[in-house]
Amino acid sequence: MKVLVINCGSSSLKYQILDMSTESLLAKGLVERIGMDGSVLTHQKIGLDEKNVVEATMNDHKEAISQVITVLADPVFGVVKSMADIGAVGHRVVHAGEKYSASVIINEDVIEALEECIELAPLHNPPNLLGIAACREIMPKTPQIAVFDTAFHQTMPPESYMYAIPYEYYEKYSIRRYGFHGTSHKYVADRAAYMLGVSIDDLKIITCHLGNGASVSAIKRGKCIDTSMGFTPLAGLAMGTRSGSVDPAIIQFIAEKEKRSIDGVLEILNKKSGMLGVSGVSSDFRDLEEAVKDGNERAALALQVFAHRVRYYIGAYMAEMNGLDALVFTAGVGENDTGMRDVICAELGNLGIKLDPVKNRVRGREAIISRDDSRVAIMMIPTNEELVIARDTYSLANKKIGLSRGV
Ligand code: AMP
Repeated sequence: MKVLVINCGSSSLKYQILDMSTESLLAKGLVERIGMDGSVLTHQKIGLDEKNVVEATMNDHKEAISQVITVLADPVFGVVKSMADIGAVGHRVVHAGEKYSASVIINEDVIEALEECIELAPLHNPPNLLGIAACREIMPKTPQIAVFDTAFHQTMPPESYMYAIPYEYYEKYSIRRYGFHGTSHKYVADRAAYMLGVSIDDLKIITCHLGNGASVSAIKRGKCIDTSMGFTPLAGLAMGTRSGSVDPAIIQFIAEKEKRSIDGVLEILNKKSGMLGVSGVSSDFRDLEEAVKDGNERAALALQVFAHRVRYYIGAYMAEMNGLDALVFTAGVGENDTGMRDVICAELGNLGIKLDPVKNRVRGREAIISRDDSRVAIMMIPTNEELVIARDTYSLANKKIGLSRGV
């Protein structure tokens, strides 16, 4: 079966198509500027060097998905004969609240539940829903599956997910910690167990998803017991442009001093803080490292703040799990920034975390990068959220097909 994986943003759409008999990637692409002037689709068939760039008016997500299907069936750049060749579509959905702890086949009830979650993820769930509606309209006979960023974290115990605020706010408004990047944390934890040749049921793992958005999770016996993001993806680590956790009283203080609304301050904490805010240079770690080479002290400080927060969560989660077997780095920074991995691990030797500077010089492939005498296995594992989405989609689509045949 060929599975199409869709990840919709408000004006962009990323896609991949995989052949699930071999779990191989056939093609991938990106649509940008949906609903704006200059909409463009960049498509790449795996194995072909040349990319196919389609500049066409795409007024909404439905028009964008129609273009994607056209290019997927293109005689040169395509990988399917027709739309009917796509067995199922998997949608990345950011927030499922407390409703779903696993992926689901999309039906009217699921759509209704996701619409109820819009207020929990106002930036992310609406475009995810637009993508789902467009695919259901264009491919009404093809099973559509939703895979949630929050689902993996639903195993957190109440003492992890409850905020110490009046309980009625949890009951009335579902205010609690949810966590995000769940498909990534799950994927790399499973891979870590596989690479170590140990059942995940016997492991305590900390996964560090360090990208533009960043979060750390504590995974005990395959289940997430804590994670650094919270009610929204603003909490936890300092990130590219997000502050991570701050004293909540700061919000009112900045609002008064800078004559801003609460919304205005949240915008600053989401878009003008983190690495960008502290350095004043960039949210991109590559730019910061260049700036450090030129003697920029604030860029150096931003990187130190980042590393400090990651270490803080590693320590906290080792205490929560009463030990640690594997520490995993993934996502843009975690996979590529050898210097950042070095700084994070530098002072953790007494906790049994000892990075090997030579093995650490790795990018782009899975590796164990700890010293032989390190009690904790330190690992670099490239994430593959699309594969997790495709696997869940394939398995649920097969169930649906089986059910409709009365199997
Ligand atoms: P992601 O959100 O996972 O795509 O990660 C994107 C971020 O990874 C970028 O903003 C960069 O800060 C970082 N990144 C990517 N490549 C490198 C690299 N070679 N060295 C340092 N940071 C990198």
